[in-house]
Amino acid sequence: MRVLVVEDEQRLAGMLARGLREAGHTADVRYTGSEGLLAAAVGTYDAVVLDVMLPGLDGTRVCRTLRRQGHRVPVLMLTARGDVPDRVAGLDAGADDYLAKPFSFDELLARLRALHRRSAGPPAAEVRAGDLLLDPARRRVFRGDTEIDLSAREFDILALLLTRAGECLTRYQILDEVWDGETDIRSNVIDVHVATLRTKVDKPFGRHAIETLRGVGYRLRPDGG
Ligand code: CA
Repeated sequence: MRVLVVEDEQRLAGMLARGLREAGHTADVRYTGSEGLLAAAVGTYDAVVLDVMLPGLDGTRVCRTLRRQGHRVPVLMLTARGDVPDRVAGLDAGADDYLAKPFSFDELLARLRALHRRSAGPPAAEVRAGDLLLDPARRRVFRGDTEIDLSAREFDILALLLTRAGECLTRYQILDEVWDGETDIRSNVIDVHVATLRTKVDKPFGRHAIETLRGVGYRLRPDGG
């Protein structure tokens, strides 16, 4: 996940950023509401951790402005313990969840993961490259008229490659999207899954849709190979 932390308490902000990075995520930090708003509006974050009490523009106003501008990025608000008005104001402003200070870092991570899962989800519509078709709603894959049986991970990797057909996806991006930042997996696990995916969607059909970009990652040919 790519996470933006907006928190004026430098120690807490630093601790959050360090913890997120150690858990395999990317973290940027902003210390004021207006800087946070700008970063959240122009950046491509999977989630924003937003403190309510910020100098200048407070967290509630940052969140409300983001929503007014049409940004749907999941927001996890940090509030003072027991401060019900803060929480209500935060949720009313369009926050997706809140956590009262002091909180456990593990809980923050779990909630961010849940927000990310809910917002990311598989694409709702069918995606297609040539005669390769993926139906996210029913989790089915076809090459022409032939249905292909994939494991859950193979399906998720193919869905990612298909929705971004023609783009090079690095192993890190695939790890981040499909494994959700789990860090205890072996580095060659993606290559193994891509290899088995090829034996199912390409080889039996004499195709080469999934290309390896040596030292970089993988790309799916928009024409389906
Ligand atoms: Ca604060």
